[in-house]
Amino acid sequence: MNLLQQQRQQVLSQIEQACQRVNRTAASVQLLAVSKTHPSSSLQEMYAAGQRCFGENYLQEALEKIDELKDLEIEWHFIGHVQRNKTKQLAEKFDWVHGVDRLIIAERLSNQRLEAQMQLNICLQVNIDGQDSKDGCQPDEVAELVQQISQLPNLRLRGLMVIPAPDNVAAFADAKTLFDQVKSLHAQPQDWDTLSMGMSADLDAAIAAGSTMVRVGTALFGARDYSSKS
Ligand SMILES: *Cc1c(COP(=O)(O)O)cnc(C)c1O
Repeated sequence: MNLLQQQRQQVLSQIEQACQRVNRTAASVQLLAVSKTHPSSSLQEMYAAGQRCFGENYLQEALEKIDELKDLEIEWHFIGHVQRNKTKQLAEKFDWVHGVDRLIIAERLSNQRLEAQMQLNICLQVNIDGQDSKDGCQPDEVAELVQQISQLPNLRLRGLMVIPAPDNVAAFADAKTLFDQVKSLHAQPQDWDTLSMGMSADLDAAIAAGSTMVRVGTALFGARDYSSKS
């Protein structure tokens, strides 16, 4: 096994142990490999190790990788901030978009998803712990947004995505409570199955609180080099 494959095995066993501690099955938590800043060759190695879901934050960088790796069966997740003028490329090129936080963004994604494609999977991003600088809707906006967005034809509204401040473990529990509360407001409640929370540093706590998808970068690929990013 090479280094990336070893790191993936370590993360998978960490997930498994975190699940065991709270009597969850390992299959109830999906590992999203966050590959921003890493070259396509690293994604290819992770793919060879069995990884299929990759998360990217920067649109241009992601589009290049999607093109370079188009022969692989990768499920592409966009986990960055969604800008209104970028929705068309997101709708056409990705399988999932995690950072939806306004109705207008969801409407644009639904309108711009191509006829021939499956519905686009989305998560509603919530600013669960009231951070100033963060994207995401307010917790008290979630109920109405779930009602509205779950009726858009070309989207599948799968759940919530949160990025609490480091060490704010209580925010994971708040996200889980909100996630459970609004399910009945969804037009297709069976689609509401994803709580996207937990990163390299806090995935154990996120899983204990009910995360179904952890977004892990550093623990899988090593530290990121942002020197080529503006
Ligand atoms: C970069 C990023 C991650 C991964 O963070 P690590 O600490 O490297 O695991 C997860 N989620 C989002 C939204 C990110 O931007």
